[in-house]
Amino acid sequence: EQLSNKIAAGEVVERPASVVKELVENAVDAGSSRIRVDVFEGGLSSIRVMDDGEGILEEDREAAFFRHATSKIKTDRDLFRIGTLGFRGEALPSIASVAEVTLTTSGDGRTGEKIIVKGGQVKTRTSAPPRKGTEIIVEDLFFNTPARLKYLKTIHTELGHISDILNRMALARPDIAFELYNEGRTMLKTSGRNDLLQVLYSIYGKTAAGEMKVLKASSADFQIKGYAASPSEVRSSRSYMTMILNGRYIKNHALVKAVLSGYNTLLPIGKFPIVCLHISLNPQLVDVNVHPSKMEVRLSKEKALQELVTETVRNVWRNEQL
Ligand code: ADP
Ligand code: MG
Repeated sequence: EQLSNKIAAGEVVERPASVVKELVENAVDAGSSRIRVDVFEGGLSSIRVMDDGEGILEEDREAAFFRHATSKIKTDRDLFRIGTLGFRGEALPSIASVAEVTLTTSGDGRTGEKIIVKGGQVKTRTSAPPRKGTEIIVEDLFFNTPARLKYLKTIHTELGHISDILNRMALARPDIAFELYNEGRTMLKTSGRNDLLQVLYSIYGKTAAGEMKVLKASSADFQIKGYAASPSEVRSSRSYMTMILNGRYIKNHALVKAVLSGYNTLLPIGKFPIVCLHISLNPQLVDVNVHPSKMEVRLSKEKALQELVTETVRNVWRNEQL
């Protein structure tokens, strides 16, 4: 059990940013409207995620730290219509096997509890004041996996990955207010007022995100909504393009290619636009259970979606191309 958690941790918990991603996904799944993340030393000395979600009931607390004890999937068929970001039940156990995790939660709003788990062992369980939602603190990450620790890059690089994750979660869920602080300094703050353009502004700045065009299209299988920046606002990296599928941030080369071919000859070689695409589709057409990080997906009608995306992007910049 302990060993398999540590092995799973190798896949799920690659670096501090993967911890942040999993904890924030859990906060989203708990129906939170505000999520606050605090990191110190690029997440290596500590990561704290606070939410105002539904909390964890007393009887589910210890189970949350054991493998595959997800509360989110009840039958095999659920796997094909996953509505939550998490479903494998291995993130929290994996994190707790390679760090010290302090969980404070209520659940029923009357009794609070604080549980400390280190290296997969429950250290203490004490009562705590009732609170709305959950707070999880992760310290001493990779204390018992020195090889992993050695492989990490500088604090600056790790922080960049964390910031990237938070930006994408905020783009995926403009209806949730996200805050990210590094050593107490604000790195991201969104309103939660369900305004995607505002989120783009707070991440990329008014000038960069200014003059974005609305993308909107639908077909029998897909609905597309989002924003695409002017081809005069180009960047030297693809990471300014964010694809959201049914509320989940994904990495998908085919979709990136589809966006780029929509811009066609407008982009200089090696340059990329700022784009955020929200795609909704029947969950039966997606398989998210491809990799433990759940960022890669398999799509059944990928070609048709690619064509729709290219067409939509091409339409908004058509005038520029004449
Ligand atoms: P899952 O794949 O279900 O997301 P995790 O290991 O990430 O598995 O979390 C285990 C369980 O712990 C979840 O199914 C959920 O019941 C509970 N949990 C974790 N974090 C939170 C949170 N912030 N709020 C409410 N419940 C949580
Ligand atoms: Mg999870």
